[in-house]
Amino acid sequence: MPEAASTQSFTKASVRDADVDGRRALVRADLNVPLEGGAVADDTRIRASLPTIELLRDRGASVVLVSHLGRPKGPDPSLSMAPVGERLGELLGTEVRQAPAVVGDQVSEMASELGAGEILMLENSRFEPGETKNDPELAEALASLADLYVNDAFGSAHRAHATTEGVAHHLPGYAGLLLEREVTELTAVRDDPQRPLIVVLGGAKVTDKLGVIDRFLGFAEEILIGGAMCFSFFKAEGRDTGDSLVEEAGVESARKVLEQAEGSDTMLELPEDLCLGQEFDADTETRLLNGVDVPEGWMGLDIGSNTIANFGKRIARAGTVFWNGPMGAFELEPFAGGTRSVAEAVAAAPGHTVVGGGDSVAALQRFGLAGAVDWLSTGGGASLELMEGRELPGVEALQDA
Ligand code: ADP
Ligand code: MG
Repeated sequence: MPEAASTQSFTKASVRDADVDGRRALVRADLNVPLEGGAVADDTRIRASLPTIELLRDRGASVVLVSHLGRPKGPDPSLSMAPVGERLGELLGTEVRQAPAVVGDQVSEMASELGAGEILMLENSRFEPGETKNDPELAEALASLADLYVNDAFGSAHRAHATTEGVAHHLPGYAGLLLEREVTELTAVRDDPQRPLIVVLGGAKVTDKLGVIDRFLGFAEEILIGGAMCFSFFKAEGRDTGDSLVEEAGVESARKVLEQAEGSDTMLELPEDLCLGQEFDADTETRLLNGVDVPEGWMGLDIGSNTIANFGKRIARAGTVFWNGPMGAFELEPFAGGTRSVAEAVAAAPGHTVVGGGDSVAALQRFGLAGAVDWLSTGGGASLELMEGRELPGVEALQDA
């Protein structure tokens, strides 16, 4: 059983304390936004990056911005940063210059021409094969573009890439405002939550969330489990799961978790009823199951109304709620009820509420509740790894405060 961790405050140097006047800052932001027809379809991540960029400009720095976008295997014009730079320029009310590449002579020249407050957007960092390999030569070439490095890309901080980690070995590295806030908010929940702490987990893959379960078993008062991941637990209990999505690789681990939960101070709550469908389809026939043994020909696609009531009651009396993962196939309206109800319960909860990245954030946005929680993380994988207690390479590489 993991020990309760001690309270840790943010120990890295913050951009707020950096001397930036007249200097050039290389800013790694998370500008990995969805595109549609060559334009930015959702600018949430661009907006989240504005405070750090604005702080640097206000304090007389010039800014060289870098991010990845999508998963290109090399240069790919359809994944150019140009539309992102354009949208950023609109939001800031200033011109954002677009570099033709990530590094190289032309890019160096454009960077050296920047005046105070001016911004240069580098091309998609994944156009360089050295990015994901954390190639030291690429890191050095990036570092040569600026006087200091600011990492504000929390959503990529769990990856040791050239723009997120390697470059910090060649320049004084500072945390951006978003990254600092993310680490502070999530660390507070992990190490020093107001009690009782209720952890709500869902989504498709139990193996993604085992680290978090491990961490909180024996530390949280309650862990509530919904989503397809509950079927790995039901299978481990020897129940019928019908045609439900069962991650087989997680069944053995789920069995161990159930065993550990027995002897721990943490209450592990699984669904007590389900909403079933015959197919993964919004038009499929549906039925409610008062129980959790799923008959042949049916799949569990959402939690049922008794489970919704139970989870809602527990969320309402929490001191802290940490939620990650939808309760069902919420993209399909007939199976969105459990996720919507949990989202509403989290939004209305008097306790401190934090939602970790990925599909749960998409769900909150879809239900118009994104503004009603205390902290909405921009990082899916990064927030899970931080909650597990793992070190994030993109944070570790920065200077100590
Ligand atoms: P997150 O991104 O929040 O970590 P995951 O990526 O693990 O969550 O899972 C999200 C997906 O899980 C959603 O697309 C949702 O449709 C799916 N899902 C949740 N519950 C079920 C279920 N009972 N059956 C099938 N799919 C489900
Ligand atoms: Mg997901």
